[in-house]
Amino acid sequence: MRIVLFGPPGAGKGTQATMLSRAIGAEHISTGDMLREAISRETSVGLSAKGYMDKGFLVPDEIVLDIVKEKIASDCRHGFILDGFPRTIPQAEGLDRLLGELGMPLEAVIDLEISARRIVERLSGRLVCPGCGEPYNRVSKPPAKEGVCDICGCEIVQRDDDKPDAIHNRLATYEKSTAPLIDYYRGKGILHGIDADADIDDIRGRILKVLGV
Ligand code: AMP
Repeated sequence: MRIVLFGPPGAGKGTQATMLSRAIGAEHISTGDMLREAISRETSVGLSAKGYMDKGFLVPDEIVLDIVKEKIASDCRHGFILDGFPRTIPQAEGLDRLLGELGMPLEAVIDLEISARRIVERLSGRLVCPGCGEPYNRVSKPPAKEGVCDICGCEIVQRDDDKPDAIHNRLATYEKSTAPLIDYYRGKGILHGIDADADIDDIRGRILKVLGV
């Protein structure tokens, strides 16, 4: 299947995409994860992206489109779940062109709907293990021992872009540049809205039902 998991920052796209990728055997493509990896490897893409990301702004379309094109063309014969991409109309148009050329159009866009108040609550409590990537939340998923990853024992941290100023920028950027994609995909008849103010398993069940799996 070829799916976009869409929604504001903090809607749970990463968690649900990981689950869905296991359930349907499609490649999980997170542009945020790919960019963070490029930053940690200090590649030219990483060096260009870091300043935008730390402040909560979008990385320029050409950079993101290039990394997604390479990934889809090389790794996605069994389908994909896009998480955090596209985030602008030019990215969505670039994706449509690429998938048109490859003869594998998008099948569904799942929009995880959640209020701004809940997003701020979730993002400001979010923590991550820099060692293995395991996500935590101060309220809904604390580690067994405070500050320490349950899986690999590293010290868990808050992402720079989950700090208050960056959260504000990310939400403003979502409203201005990303939310217009809802109408873009509704117009194509492939948008499915899902109430994402629920627990992880409920959201998971709703997504699988919409996809008929
Ligand atoms: P995420 O992990 O999806 O929340 O992404 C973290 C950050 O990476 C975003 O705030 C942006 O700075 C950058 N980023 C991720 N995906 C994109 C994208 N499709 N377009 C532009 N910037 C992106």
